[in-house]
Amino acid sequence: MINNQINQDTICALASPQGVGAIAVIRLSGKDAIVIADKIFQSTHGKKELKKLKSHTIHFGFIKDGNTTIDEVLVSIFKSPNSYTGENIVEISCHGSVYIQQQILQLLIRNSARPAKAGEFTLRAFLNHKLDLSQAEAVADLISSGSAAAHKVAMQQMRGGFSKEIKNLRNQLIHFASLIELELDFAEEDVEFANREKLNNLISSLISHLSSLTNSFAIGNVIKNGIPVAIVGKPNAGKSTLLNILLNEERAIVSEIAGTTRDTIEEELIIDGINFRFIDTAGIRETQDSIENIGVSRTFEKINQSTVVIYLFDVNEITSGELKEIEKSILQKTDKNFSTLLFVGNKIDKADIHSLEKEFLSFENIIFISAKENINLEKLKKSLLNFVNENKIGESDVIVTNVRHYEALQKSNEALTNVLKALSENIAGDFLAVDIRKALHHLGEITGEISTDDLLENIFKNFCIGK
Ligand code: GDP
Repeated sequence: MINNQINQDTICALASPQGVGAIAVIRLSGKDAIVIADKIFQSTHGKKELKKLKSHTIHFGFIKDGNTTIDEVLVSIFKSPNSYTGENIVEISCHGSVYIQQQILQLLIRNSARPAKAGEFTLRAFLNHKLDLSQAEAVADLISSGSAAAHKVAMQQMRGGFSKEIKNLRNQLIHFASLIELELDFAEEDVEFANREKLNNLISSLISHLSSLTNSFAIGNVIKNGIPVAIVGKPNAGKSTLLNILLNEERAIVSEIAGTTRDTIEEELIIDGINFRFIDTAGIRETQDSIENIGVSRTFEKINQSTVVIYLFDVNEITSGELKEIEKSILQKTDKNFSTLLFVGNKIDKADIHSLEKEFLSFENIIFISAKENINLEKLKKSLLNFVNENKIGESDVIVTNVRHYEALQKSNEALTNVLKALSENIAGDFLAVDIRKALHHLGEITGEISTDDLLENIFKNFCIGK
């Protein structure tokens, strides 16, 4: 349905951000894109028709509504099939006033283009085989990437690194699937075309490959969505001072991007390309986020929402015995363990560091800082980084960042594990075939070789309009 419905119309949308800018870009894609553009465009040198001009060229002229000139523009033309969507595309770069943008869009619509839906340009690129599904999803990730690491993995996925890997795995499996299916055709003669030992080896190697891909999701998710960090502690421990000094140095530019999953804007700190998101900072900043005032449960809730917890305390106010009690209650009442709980002793400018180290010797993850005097903050940042460095990303590693891909890989792996089990139990070919087909199906879902309207709609509705 999606196929038929979209390939007929010529669609248009603003491709640059909403609002006023120096320049805005309006995109037009479809069979009639150039014909429609010709109706409203007039070149500076008399009547030059866009449809007679070469693909991949830019032309200066006017957008006219009858005798009224709406703007001076540059028009770029890309002729099918050599364009982003695979269709004819015209991009109009106009002056970035909202009024002009709307006038041009309305003019296009009056000339029988229709407004594009969210992600429709990229959907068309997918349907016209310009991109596969995982590459299309990477386009959205690339647009919303806010750190070096997120940018790197999205770029690799968009350029097809991940797809190549999946297609490669799938092709190996298809070969065997066809041999097994052939056996089924000759079921009565009891022949084996697919060598069981080879199949066993292949499945084992696929399983280990898929496992390493699913394992990469732990780091991939961190890269894409950042690491949620909670700063908790008693009133006056120095939480807001710490937050301010961390963020003031290297405050990330956070913007609201339509179509990204983030609902609330959180304060972010990027260290070595990794995004740390400080959650519920309003609580710290506006009120005295006191355990007494707000209630202990809220603090525990916040801890549960985070991946890393910084428990900040004033070294002059707490003994190691008290800290042990706090540690015990956090570990009991939340889902955190030792490795994700970082104790940070603050205000060491007013204390003797040697006696502190002695006092708190029994704590593994502990560092001493002064937020106010900027002592040991680099050390604190390094400790935060240690949470990800165990899973350091190599240059060429394929990393899974998308939940949908992760789930499909897991399902495929389950099916292959069943194949392996069936092989070891000498189970008949038709049972093998069912699970092999299942594994193929789930791998195919990742790149979109197998897709349904629902799946496509779900993916593309999260894109911005104009992309
Ligand atoms: P919060 O209630 O945990 O957010 O604590 P604040 O950040 O408001 O800090 C409470 C008080 O401790 C303020 O007067 C800060 O200036 C002070 N403070 C914060 N960090 C330090 C530090 O490293 N050394 C000293 N001496 N005072 C600090």
